[in-house]
Amino acid sequence: MKDLKFDTIAIREGYRTTNEQEHSEAIFLTSSFKFDSAEQAAARFAKEEPGNIYARFTNPTVDAFEKKLAALEGAQACVATASGMAAIFTTIMALVKSGDHIVASRNMFGTSIVLLNTIVSKFDIAISYVDLSDLSQWENAVQDNTKLFLLETPSNPLGEVVNMVALSKISQANDVLLVVDNAILSPALQTPLKLGADIVIHSATKYIDGQGRCLAGAVLGSKETIEQVAAFTRTTGPSLSAFNAWIVLKGLDTLSLRMKAHCKNALKIATWLENQPQIEKVHYLGLKSHPHHSLAKTQQSGFGGIVSFEVKGGKTAAFKLINATEIFSITANLGDTKSTITHPASTTHGRLSDEEKADANITDGLVRLSIGLEDIDDLIADIKI
Ligand SMILES: *Cc1c(COP(=O)(O)O)cnc(C)c1O
Repeated sequence: MKDLKFDTIAIREGYRTTNEQEHSEAIFLTSSFKFDSAEQAAARFAKEEPGNIYARFTNPTVDAFEKKLAALEGAQACVATASGMAAIFTTIMALVKSGDHIVASRNMFGTSIVLLNTIVSKFDIAISYVDLSDLSQWENAVQDNTKLFLLETPSNPLGEVVNMVALSKISQANDVLLVVDNAILSPALQTPLKLGADIVIHSATKYIDGQGRCLAGAVLGSKETIEQVAAFTRTTGPSLSAFNAWIVLKGLDTLSLRMKAHCKNALKIATWLENQPQIEKVHYLGLKSHPHHSLAKTQQSGFGGIVSFEVKGGKTAAFKLINATEIFSITANLGDTKSTITHPASTTHGRLSDEEKADANITDGLVRLSIGLEDIDDLIADIKI
């Protein structure tokens, strides 16, 4: 079957059951795989015959998830990992060596910044930070030893965007790999490989599972690149478990429907928030008032489920608003069916200095919502301002 559309691939690709009667995908809960003969075992280990050996290398349920996600992202290959952080660390360790240099967006998931500053930097790998949307900063940061550009677009919580086609021209001209963390939108709304990125990373913990049940991650790209990344996971062990692979595999079935509903709900609450006198500013890419609205429209098919806003009265007002909610969960997670509410300055960005917060526009009055799939009128009524 050729040229199938996204929703058909999301449901049919990578389909694998243990026997012909089973209709739902099977979980292969096994750490190792047995061989028909000593000769077959030898052939598998010598890579003369394809097939499973040990679950740190491959597993049919994990394989089904990898195939389906690769088809949805338009990637040649995928390797699944135990979490999003494992995906980022694995990518860097597999493709960068000591003496190399990474240019990273300063508007990234907090733990990604901590990973670069405290762990990756120990291996004599230099890191420079730039503003996500400013192409000239990326270009000027390139050195002879630059190996990777690392970023998320749109950024969280403010929804800044970089023009990926333009940035990929800079990375290609300098022989640098463009690595995009696509967790915030998922392939249902954005496929960076089709816009010039070399590698896509996922925290499948977020929208791909979509129901807050497990941790999972993935790295996608060309066959050659993913072979290098897979060689790292099979040797060091941050492989995805079969059980968690099954959860995220089933999550992909409903991904596009859920993302449409997240986007619809998010736009409605963002529009409502923009009209409230107590709200100073709303950051949602779907609003025409967002400075990156037009650019986002050229590379995303939707604006996602994250809405941030600044409430008048700073931290006191923000805490009061958060504490007064009865439906929203006060938690830093995102991408769940359940809506969540967070005060970034004291949680996700709490480790930043005041100056770093100011640089990243994380004000004391800023509140972040991850809009879930509850009835939007109930969610609006839950924001008491
Ligand atoms: C959550 C998140 C991660 C980390 O993923 P885990 O699965 O929690 O390890 C990385 N990048 C982004 C954009 C995230 O939102």
